[in-house]
Parts: sequence; structure tokens; C-alpha cells
Amino acid sequence: MVRRAFIIVYAFLIITLLLCGVISCRSKKAIGRSVSIFCLSLIPPVLGNMIIIGATTTLPALIGCYIYYIGMDLIMQTLIMFTNRYCYAPKEMATERHQVPSWISFFLLFDVIQMMMNPFLGHAFALREIEVYGAPYFIMEPLIGQTFHRIVCYGALLFIMFVFVSRTIKVPKIYKERYAVILISMIIGTLWQTFYIFSRTPIDRSMIGFAVFGILIFYFSIYYRPVRLLDSILARMASSTKEGVFLYEPEGRCLWVNSYGLEMTKSALDDFEHAARVIVDFFGDVLSVQGDIEYERSIVSGIDEQFFTVTKGDFFDDNQKLLGTFLRIKDVTEEKMRLDRELFMANHDALTRVYNREYCLKKISDKLRQHSLGDYYIAAINLCDFKVFNDVFGRDFGDAALIQVAEWMKRYSDENCIYGRLGGDMFGSFLPKAMFDQAIVEKDLTDFSVKWGNDEHHLVVHVGFCSVDEGDEDVSVLFDRAMMALDSIRDDYKKHVAFFDSKIRDKMLWNKEISGELQTAIDKGQICPYFQPIADRDGKIVGAEALARWIHPVYGFMSPAEFIPLFEENGMIADLDKHIWKSACKTLADWEKKYPNLFISVNVSPKDFFMSDVLSDIMSYVLEYDIDPGKLRIEVTETSMMRDTDDRIKVLEEFRKQGFIVEMDDFGSGYSSLNMLKDMPVDVLKIDMKFLSKTSDERKADIIVKNVIRLSEDLDITSLAEGVETEKHFNKLNDFGCTLFQGYYFSKPLPLEEFEAMLKE
Ligand code: C2E
Ligand code: CA
Ligand code: CA
Repeated sequence: MVRRAFIIVYAFLIITLLLCGVISCRSKKAIGRSVSIFCLSLIPPVLGNMIIIGATTTLPALIGCYIYYIGMDLIMQTLIMFTNRYCYAPKEMATERHQVPSWISFFLLFDVIQMMMNPFLGHAFALREIEVYGAPYFIMEPLIGQTFHRIVCYGALLFIMFVFVSRTIKVPKIYKERYAVILISMIIGTLWQTFYIFSRTPIDRSMIGFAVFGILIFYFSIYYRPVRLLDSILARMASSTKEGVFLYEPEGRCLWVNSYGLEMTKSALDDFEHAARVIVDFFGDVLSVQGDIEYERSIVSGIDEQFFTVTKGDFFDDNQKLLGTFLRIKDVTEEKMRLDRELFMANHDALTRVYNREYCLKKISDKLRQHSLGDYYIAAINLCDFKVFNDVFGRDFGDAALIQVAEWMKRYSDENCIYGRLGGDMFGSFLPKAMFDQAIVEKDLTDFSVKWGNDEHHLVVHVGFCSVDEGDEDVSVLFDRAMMALDSIRDDYKKHVAFFDSKIRDKMLWNKEISGELQTAIDKGQICPYFQPIADRDGKIVGAEALARWIHPVYGFMSPAEFIPLFEENGMIADLDKHIWKSACKTLADWEKKYPNLFISVNVSPKDFFMSDVLSDIMSYVLEYDIDPGKLRIEVTETSMMRDTDDRIKVLEEFRKQGFIVEMDDFGSGYSSLNMLKDMPVDVLKIDMKFLSKTSDERKADIIVKNVIRLSEDLDITSLAEGVETEKHFNKLNDFGCTLFQGYYFSKPLPLEEFEAMLKE
């Protein structure tokens, strides 16, 4: 009767384990498969145990024993698999990886084999028949193989328990439960098992413990949701976010505030009431809005402005009944400031903190597209000789100057103006005409000086204006015009303001026309060199300077002043110069027989160095006409040397190496002549009398000229005075020791035939 009852219990357990196996196999949980395998693997030993209980003859008891023993090894193996899966994340996600050592599986396998050998060796166990409740019952007499079996199984179990114990200890508190429940079930199951194995009760009911353990594992891994664990994780998440979280009951009572929310509202620990009051003061309106919303809000306290994003939401139960409301308040001040800063940096000039070129032009462009704009000016503001200012006073002072000009511009502007730094020493502004008072600006700029530390220096600032007319949409065209107005007072240090007017417009058209005609003029021979004689100390002509002239079919004779500055500006000078160099070489070749001792000087403009390879261009003409380089003199100004000085010096040195004579033109007209002279490899110094004659004190001018001539003598440089207009001049310069002379005293620049005619005389 008792044995039958046990059989029913076992059958019930087997069915339950089967159900657990199927359910867990179908479960979507990752652990499902290993739980299923474990539950199913429990069935054979439970079945074995059941057979032993029911058996009244030897054979079934023996079969039951083998199923039981081998099944135990199987359980241990599947338990190991379960443990590895339960305690450690899958390989691809694992941050740390420990496992129940895999060699245990070898022992389990070996144990299976040695148990199977029992029928032949009889080393593991023997059956002894006894009588229980009036029927034969077979109990096992353990032998050495059985002891080995126990050691292996308990050993495996110990390792598994060890894993659970170590996990329970190691993991953070909130996770301990996950491991502890399994560990406790395991301990209970094992104790039960052990108790019945060793207690020698008449019927072995040991597998009940393991079966129950399997069912518990199924429950804990598949169904049991550690609510406290989830609660505590979610609560911690809500607590630790860097935003205030406020939970309200449907009636509006504040239920909970996270620690950031408390800190934000300057509330004491757990003083949700205070926090809620503060929130109502600032965000009460948000709370009263129906449904879910999110928006930004700024709060000003004192001089500080703070920015928040506020999210309000309701949450409901499964029946759509309102459970409560939450408010999430995030302080985005820093983020917003950073964004504002980045935007500012992208649109502003780092030094002067006014708009940068792109943004300024864009803003003006946008404004120009508006209808009925009103009367506006575009102004281009330029710091004159800013490069010199920088060189003389240093970059820091230069920076200070730029900042102060930007401030000056700001002072004349209001919210209707758009202004910015267009680059370098150029600023731009877009302003209503009504805001501009020429007299005030003129006066301001006349006295304009910049300060830096204790230093203060006058700075010439020019402003070019262009009136914005109906239909003007291209901002760069408008600025071009304003800059043309600037150009018209470029060298005028008394005038500070200029307007783009019809005169400038005409000049612009003229420039356009002249530039368009240059190539045809060269091709048709309208442009040709005139020759101005250069004389030695005896007044004998030794050479000539080739100076460009344009005999225009409509405008007639044109002096270089009418086109050279324009071509220097737009770079077309290179084409003109090449033409003059070539013509000079051609003339020299022609003179080879007639005047073998004459030289010709040609001008090289600073722009030529940018536009082409001056040396190879000139060399190509020299080779083409097969002339002696020593007869071609190269005139360069110190302006050419101001940029890329080292490269330029190399070019001049190369010229000299090739046999050319290099002359420094217009000495004295620049601002650092003496400094340049030190480095410039030149053979001749052309001293321009024009610049000196501007001086009222003739005595001083004479002293300067005399000493420059002496200086050049000391430096082994030939001196050439140009602009010699009278005999008196010539004699004086001769007395000073000057070597070569050029000027109206000898002759104006002449067409080739007239020059040759003069030579014949
Ligand atoms: P520059 O090279 O200094 O040429 C000397 C200028 O002084 C010439 O003016 C010449 O006519 C003028 N001049 C000569 N003697 C006297 C004098 O006794 N008194 C006065 N007041 N002036 C005198 P020009 O030919 O009008 O040339 C003006 C400038 O144009 C030249 O100055 C030169 O810088 C430039 N230029 C002329 N032709 C060319 C050329 O083919 N290429 C380049 N790049 N520049 C040229
Ligand atoms: Ca010259
Ligand atoms: Ca000159």
C-alpha cells in the first residue's frame, strides 16, 4: 500500500517534470532550453527510483538501479549546462567568463562507463533482497564502484554549488536573490537526497528531492519575476538620472521625487511636499495640461537664466484607469549655452566678436530681399596702411586696433544695422541712411586713435559708402561699389568718407573697357615702349628706360598713369610687361650693330612675380633675340620684396648670376628702404628726385641725397638719379658723386625713332 502510494507520487512527479520540460522549451526566455533539458533529464532517474520501489523481482530492480545511476550522471551534466547558462551571460555578451570546469564532464562520462561494467565486474553494487511491507524489496549493497559514483556526483554538485555561492557573494545586493533562490532549492534537494541515501530507511525515496529541485528551478527561471529586483533597478534608474523626476497621484498629491529633483528644488531628504510646492510655482501650468507634452522653458533668477526641458506624462493601468502623472525636468542650461557658444563661434569673428564675413553677407542678403526696405547704405570700412601699423607697432597692438574699430562701428549701430568683419582690415556695415551723419563721422575719424596699454596712436580709417537702390540684391556687388568709393580716397589721409557716385561708376566702366581692350591693343601694336635716355656723368647717353605708352585709336596718346595702376590691380600688368620686355629685347637685338654699348631698363611690377615666372619669361626673350643679358636691366621696387622676400631675393640673385643688372627702382618712396637695401641683391639704386622735391627744406633734401649716394658707393652699388629736370640739378648730383642720370633735363620718354634720332645728334 505504502509502496503503491510512492509510485503514484513518482508518477505525478514524472508528469510534472515532463510538463515543465515542454513549457520551458516553448518559453521565449534564453534560459528555457537548458531548463527544459534539465527537467527532462530528471525523468530517467526518477523513473529508475520508481521502478526500484515497485520491483518485487531481481531483473526490474536491477534495470531500475542502472537507470537511476546513469541518470544521476546525466542530471549532473545537464545541471552543469544549466548553471553555466544561468550564471554567466552568453559568450558574445559576457564581460567575465567562468564556468564549471569542463573536466568534470569527463569524470561523469567515465562514471557512466564504469557503472555499465558492473554486470561483468560486479564491482559497483550488489542487490540484496529484503522484505518490506510484506513484499520483496531490493536494496543496494554499495561496493567500490558505487563509492566512486558518489564521489563523482557529489563532487560535481559541490562545484555547481560553489558557482552559485560565489555568484551570490559577488553580485550586487539586488541581484543576490536571483542566485540565492536556486542555491537554497539545490541545498534542500541535496539534503533530502543525502538523507535518504544514508538513512537506510526501508524504501529509497531519494529522487523526490531532486524532482522537487527540478520543479523549483523551472519555476524560478521561467516564471518567477524578481519584482523587488526590478523595482529596485527601476527606482535606482529614476533616482540616478540627471533630471528631476516627480510622480503624482491622480488626485495631484506628490508621491515621490528622485534625489535630483530634491536637489533641484533645494528640498530636504524625503521632503516631497516642499519639492512639489516649488514645482507648482514654476511648472504648475505644465502639470495642469491634459495629456502628454514636452516643451522648453527658461527661468530667470537674478542675472542668471536657466533653461529646462519639461516632459509631462500620465500612466494608466491595464484598464486605462489613470494611475498617476509624472513630470521630468531636465536642466539644459549648459547644453544650450554650449550650442549658443558654438553658433556664436560659427557666425562671429573670434577677435572682434562681430559677425564674420559669411554670416554678415548672408544677413544683409536676407534683408535685401525684404520688400519696401527703406533707404539704406552699404559701408566698407578700411584701416589704412594696416600692414605698416602691424609691422611698426606689433600684432597685439594691431589686434587692439581691430577691436577698437569694431567697437566704433558698434557705437554707430542699432538693431536696424548689420555689421561684421569682412576679413583682414576690412569691416562692412548695412545701415539706414537716417543713422548716418557725415559731419560727425568725419570728425570722429579725423581724431581716431587706438589705445593699447599706455600707448595711443592715430589710425587712418576710411569708409566707402554705396547707396542701396530698389532692386539691388547682390550684396557683393554693393560691397564692390563701396570699396571702389574707398579706393577713390585711398591715398588721401585728410578725407575719411567717400561715396560711390557717377564719377566712380564712370571710372569703373572705363576700367572695364580698358581691361577688355588690352590684348587687342598689344596684338595691334597700339601699346609700345617709349625710351627715356639715361646719361653718365658727362651727360653722354649710355642707355634708356623703356616706358609703356598706349596710342589708343579713340582716346589717343595715353600715359601709364591711366592704365598701369588698373592693370597692377587686376593682374593684367603681366601681359603688358611681357610685351614691353619682348619689345625691349627686340630693340636691343636691333641695336647690336648700331649702338652696341647701349642698355635698356625694363620695369617689373610686383604683381608680375605672382602672375608668372619672371626670370624664365625674360630669359626666353633674351634667347629668342640672342642678346647679351648684361644689356637688359631689371627694375624692381621694394614693394615687390615685401612678400615672400626670401623667394624674391633668390630670383634677383639668379638674374644677376645670368648676367643681368638689377636695379632698385623708386628708392625712397617706400617706408623701409634702408632695411631692404641691406638684403636686396641689387647693382643700381634709382633715387627718385620727385619724392625729395616734395620737401620744402632743400638743404635737408640735399643732405639726404648726398648721403644716400655715399652709402650706395660704400655698398658698391651704382647710384642713378631719376627725375633730373635742370642743369643745376645735374651739376649738384654730379658733385654729390652720382653716377647715372635720367630726367626731363636730358629728354622726355621718346618713341623709338625719335630716340634714335636724338642719339644720332
Ligand atoms: P617709373 O618707373 O619711376 O618711371 C619713371 C617715370 O618718371 C616715368 O613716368 C617718366 O616719364 C617720369 N619722369 C622721367 N623723368 C622725369 C622728370 O624729370 N620729372 C618728372 N616729374 N617725371 C619724370 P611714366 O612713363 O608716366 O611712368 C610712370 C610709372 O608707370 C613708372 O614709373 C612705372 O612705375 C610705371 N610704368 C611705366 N611703364 C611701365 C611698364 O612698361 N611696366 C610697368 N610695370 N610699369 C610701367
Ligand atoms: Ca622704372
Ligand atoms: Ca622710378
